Amino acid sequence: MNDTFLSEYVLANKIAVITGAASGIGRGTADFLRRMGAEVALLDVDEDRGIVAADALGASFFRCDVTSSADCEQAIAEIERTLGRIDILVNAAGVIVRKTVVELLEAEWDRVIDVSLKGIYLMSKYAIPVMARTGGGSIVNISSGWGLKGGPKAAAYCAAKGGVVNLTRAMAIDHAAQGIRVNCIAPGDIDTPLLRSEAAQLGVDEAEFLAESTVRPLARLGTSLDVAKAVYFLASDLSSWVTGATLVVDGGGIA
Ligand code: NAD
Repeated sequence: MNDTFLSEYVLANKIAVITGAASGIGRGTADFLRRMGAEVALLDVDEDRGIVAADALGASFFRCDVTSSADCEQAIAEIERTLGRIDILVNAAGVIVRKTVVELLEAEWDRVIDVSLKGIYLMSKYAIPVMARTGGGSIVNISSGWGLKGGPKAAAYCAAKGGVVNLTRAMAIDHAAQGIRVNCIAPGDIDTPLLRSEAAQLGVDEAEFLAESTVRPLARLGTSLDVAKAVYFLASDLSSWVTGATLVVDGGGIA
């Protein structure tokens, strides 16, 4: 291997847009993609934490509620105006409500589906034409192991994440001709504020909840870095012949 060979796979001159980037997997991914050479735009509905995250990376922050068509359209237009192009879109924004269909309020169902599934549609709707203008790009959607199998007391989340897996396949078919690859990651339990919030929602001890999450072949919790490295593979030309795929990143949890 030499430097020229490797340089094909770094993200120099690439613009990467990441939703849910104020926290957890989105933030870790923004950090990793930036270290691999990309210029990153951090998007989140949480302006305070988003600005802190962006400042720490020396990156730009755009407040965007991915459930709002107007917000997504405006953020993408602003990114194209200021950064000139979009090469990579990582859809990481997501929320979870740990309830059965009987327990779920209609507003909770709508929120989980709107953030985790509709948000990917809205961001992609506005980002794809921008990507296509410069010859294509790569979209990475963050689903979940619970997009491939069911889980207890997470009915809306499982529905949304299953939707993300098949939306990914549909988008891959529709946009290949524009040079756009679309793939998806199905993480297992990753140590983030979202995972920790589940213990509180279920009314169980957080330490015990996290310890149970380590029960898997690779016998530990995942980290945002574990996911970010997989995002990098799918976002970069390392995965040039991969589209419509779901990559499970879960320490063997659903093996
Ligand atoms: P997190 O709570 O740490 O981060 C999620 C981010 O999304 C937050 O910064 C939040 O403000 C943002 N967000 C929420 N609603 C939004 C909206 N309407 N518009 C824009 N941003 C919004 O969670 P995380 O664990 O990093 O989760 C990231 C993704 O990974 C989610 O899609 C989640 O479902 C998925 N995931 C997480 C795990 C895990 O164990 N942590 C496992 C599988 C999948």
